[in-house]
Amino acid sequence: MAETCIEDYPADKPFPSALFFKPVGGRPLHVVLAFDSNGEKAYVITAYEPTFMTQSVCPICEGTKHQGTTTFTVDYTDGVLVVRNVPATICSQCGEDWIADADASRLEQITNVARGEKRQFEVGDYSLATAV
Ligand SMILES: [Zn+2]
Repeated sequence: MAETCIEDYPADKPFPSALFFKPVGGRPLHVVLAFDSNGEKAYVITAYEPTFMTQSVCPICEGTKHQGTTTFTVDYTDGVLVVRNVPATICSQCGEDWIADADASRLEQITNVARGEKRQFEVGDYSLATAV
């Protein structure tokens, strides 16, 4: 049994339930199980593949995602910042892009610096941007 309990819902009705994570055939699966009062039976409430963990399918249009780069643009009060070549996962069908948390927080730092120095317009290349 390789499932891992992620969350408990002890107050659930009619039975307490819990969310489990279990890899099935190399793909992650989330299963919500409810347990009857004497713990003899478990009921499957729902089972689904969490979309945030699947890298290959776009949750918006179900197109194919691929690794690439995107242009990050932010319009703050004093100016505009454009950062090119930001690593991202991009949907080849609808063009939606996802920037990883680490890159997103670095972009936030870059934005804060540009805003702090009240730069009117700044175009940068992510690969050249130095961490603050
Ligand atoms: Zn898409």
